[in-house]
Amino acid sequence: MDSNDLVIYNGIVMTVNPAFDIHRPGMVVIRGGCIVETGPRAPGQPLPPAPRHIDAEGGIVMPGLVNTHTHLPMTLFRGLADDLPLDQWLNAHIFPAEARHIDARTVRCGTRLACAELLLGGTTVCCDGYFFADQVAEAAAAMGLRAVIGQGVVDFPAPGVPDPAGNVEAARNFVDRWQGRCPRIHPSIFCHSPYTCGRDTLVRAKTAARAAGCLFQIHVAETEVERRESIAAHGRSPVGRLDDLGLWDEHTLAVHAVWVDRDDIEVLARRRTAVSHNPQSNMKLAAGVAPVPDFLAAGITVGLGTDGCASNNDLDLLREMDTAAKIHKVTTGRPTVTDARQVVEMATIAGARAIGLGDAIGSLEPGKRADIVVLRADRPHLVPVYHPASTVVYAATGADVRHVLIDGHLVVRDGVLQTADVKEILADARQVAKTIARKH
Ligand SMILES: [Zn+2]
Repeated sequence: MDSNDLVIYNGIVMTVNPAFDIHRPGMVVIRGGCIVETGPRAPGQPLPPAPRHIDAEGGIVMPGLVNTHTHLPMTLFRGLADDLPLDQWLNAHIFPAEARHIDARTVRCGTRLACAELLLGGTTVCCDGYFFADQVAEAAAAMGLRAVIGQGVVDFPAPGVPDPAGNVEAARNFVDRWQGRCPRIHPSIFCHSPYTCGRDTLVRAKTAARAAGCLFQIHVAETEVERRESIAAHGRSPVGRLDDLGLWDEHTLAVHAVWVDRDDIEVLARRRTAVSHNPQSNMKLAAGVAPVPDFLAAGITVGLGTDGCASNNDLDLLREMDTAAKIHKVTTGRPTVTDARQVVEMATIAGARAIGLGDAIGSLEPGKRADIVVLRADRPHLVPVYHPASTVVYAATGADVRHVLIDGHLVVRDGVLQTADVKEILADARQVAKTIARKH
């Protein structure tokens, strides 16, 4: 590994600290993988000594992006079944494809493809939920990504968990195996949804997560059908029902939360539960639009997510930011909502808080881990830069990422992944996709 003592200089430093300070030109001083100083640096002012200095060449220097909702191995299903409603997409295509093709080897292959995409696109941490979580965690750890990784729980036979009676135990065992094993990997429990997990499973899974002190994740209130059926069967909205079961607290992440009413929002705010907002996935499945301006007004922490590649179809958080900033302007008729700064916060510090890592990452502040992205400055669509948040949200894409650091280590350098051979990853993924295409 390269040394993680370094100085990044000659960039536009967007700290995303509480004051949203921008240093132009600025520098970030890193020691032992930790940020020790950020601030302005006048041209000609001597640089602090360090084994390595990185010239940002005028590019924006910002916290690594936080993707609060992924299903990493699903990169293998990218474009397999598009343009369908969620129930058909899930029951006729995704669940059968998973049953047929998902095993330890394909999970490793799909995760490596996902990690390459995430890192090259400036995402330094993701919050994942899937099956074969050991293989997901091993692949993510080996590629240098930081990740919260949840073992999936559903009440039917699932990849790697053929007997649903052992689903919560499998998740608990995964958490036991990974707690304290790798400082960048945080194990978690991921119940798929209130409609694929029964009451007993939900309560036992949350109890296990609580006992382990780990994050509990769940898709909730994603579609109108889910809300309608929950009210018909239980007399409660999905959010209301999970509140009755005691599932909401600050260590639970509510994913989607599209079909929520005023009472549901009040519940999430009162329980200090964060929401993962996945606008592109919700648009593609015509699920609807989560009322993010109302969440923010209620003081709910909102992070951004791409969801899996079968419903997006990429892991580019910079493109997701553009969508998140615009879609609420359309639904509310107010161009002032979800402004560029708020969306940058969602993709960094708020996302970090949503997944329980707000003290360690999400902003460029002394004491935090050095998870940093440096954008290119030499592309026509990135010039001029009046407001860096505007450039990042409305003009940049993942293809504009130049350097990525995690714990101060350069995992992407000049647009080249340093932790794995991308050609080999792509060849492996193409090989697996051939089998999937043949048997779909
Ligand atoms: Zn999802």
